[in-house]
Amino acid sequence: MRDTTITPITVAKGDGIGPEITDAVLHIMQAAGARLKVEEVAAGEAVYRRGHAGGLDAAGWASIRRTRVFLKGPITTPQGHGNKSLNVTARTTLGLFANVRPCVSYHPYVRSRHPRMDVVIIRENEEDLYAGIEHRQTDDVIQSVKLISRPGSERIVRYAFDYARANQRRKVTALAKDNIMKLTDGLFLRIFYEVAKEYPEIKADHLIVDVGAARLADQPERFDVIVTLNLYGDIVSDIAAQITGSVGLAGAANIGDACAMFEAIHGSAPMITGQDIANPSGLLMAAVMMLVHIGQGDVAARIHNAWLKTLEDGVHTTDVFSRGNSKLKVGTQDFAQAVVERLGQLPVTLTSVGYATLRSAVDRSVLLSPRRVAVKELVGVDVFLHWPGGDPDELAGLVGPLGGNALQLSTISNRSQTVWPNGNAGVFCTDHWRCRFLASTGVVKHQDIVSLLGRLAEAGLDFIQIENLCTFDGKAGFSALASP
Ligand code: NAD
Repeated sequence: MRDTTITPITVAKGDGIGPEITDAVLHIMQAAGARLKVEEVAAGEAVYRRGHAGGLDAAGWASIRRTRVFLKGPITTPQGHGNKSLNVTARTTLGLFANVRPCVSYHPYVRSRHPRMDVVIIRENEEDLYAGIEHRQTDDVIQSVKLISRPGSERIVRYAFDYARANQRRKVTALAKDNIMKLTDGLFLRIFYEVAKEYPEIKADHLIVDVGAARLADQPERFDVIVTLNLYGDIVSDIAAQITGSVGLAGAANIGDACAMFEAIHGSAPMITGQDIANPSGLLMAAVMMLVHIGQGDVAARIHNAWLKTLEDGVHTTDVFSRGNSKLKVGTQDFAQAVVERLGQLPVTLTSVGYATLRSAVDRSVLLSPRRVAVKELVGVDVFLHWPGGDPDELAGLVGPLGGNALQLSTISNRSQTVWPNGNAGVFCTDHWRCRFLASTGVVKHQDIVSLLGRLAEAGLDFIQIENLCTFDGKAGFSALASP
């Protein structure tokens, strides 16, 4: 029996072309029989101007928390004044851990050098260098902290496999740089293969991210679903969208346990605002993802197929229009009307879609494997110093005697190159030094490190950061130092 439940959703029309394309999308959804109760909220420039640094006011956040589904038009983020991108704020505030971006080419109706491309990029949205933990430590050096967690990795990897299963995809490829970042990216990849075992019908493989990005740009048809960390995902998903030849046609979903946000991947296009020429397709594809997410796959398929038929019939907005492929140039609202007129039809050349029997990947509650508590032992400390001198032997002479009975200076490195002992004289050094102290005998106590820091301070040495060196079940939980 057909589900007739009305689902409340929050809609923000946004800035620039946002209101025009949102109206077009709402018109199509209504005509297609979407069972929705729309709560409209203000978001974007006007809200920023009223002093809400995240681009949404309390009523807007309350609506999203109530409906748990947010269809968002593009937003113009005013520069400066401490304003934060609404996207970034929404991802962190609402715990939207997965960014899902299908990148499809619609050859021959939209020009693309990759006619058979149909890739879904699933990007981890909350961790990695995007935590924005940065410190200026010395005159020369600033650090940005990359945090990768086991539960965060497991959640995104599991989501990718669930998505592949729910959407009858055949392969999930992980992209990471584990050959260099052996601990962080290595953890992500290890979890990827652990989780993959639970999905035997789906092929799992991985590529180093640079090789993967190059291959994606050259032979995207070799990929199916890609799962990757935040920074790599940001870059790779833009490459993938660009090479479809149809950036303006792509939508994206940001999925969390409690809420989900759907949007076009393009911006507010101020140059074409108010001219009724913007293409509503990106937001429409986002709305299709939203309908699948809320269990209205039947409506999603009706809209998606009518939209494919509209493209096929050569009814195109200016951005897609080309001689040979297009028959009728239309504006935003006429394009929407053309889609409405084709509701119930299927594309002939392009592959039709069917969502009616699919469930959204997020319907499944995430089962994280229980945390295993390892035996952790403190075996040393890396002390980072801001030291303006340039001679590693001189620094070793200063800090070496300060280790006390428990700690012994083992190595000094600068920009990750070992410069003492037996350092390469040619290494370019900054004012940022890492002094590695290891246990003289057995295990170190926290108090030994505190005492060491006290002696460094008394000697007038400016320590800027320490990292405890620990083993977990006897395995080093820290990277080895590069040899000179
Ligand atoms: P943009 O995506 O708005 O525009 C890039 C180009 O694509 C322009 O030539 C524009 O006219 C065209 N274009 C974009 N969408 C189109 C559509 N639907 N139909 C036809 N043509 C379209 O990127 P931009 O110019 O770099 O950014 C403009 C504003 O959008 C900025 O304030 C930026 O911060 C914001 N932005 C918001 C989001 C978002 O809300 N998710 C994403 C990207 C940019």
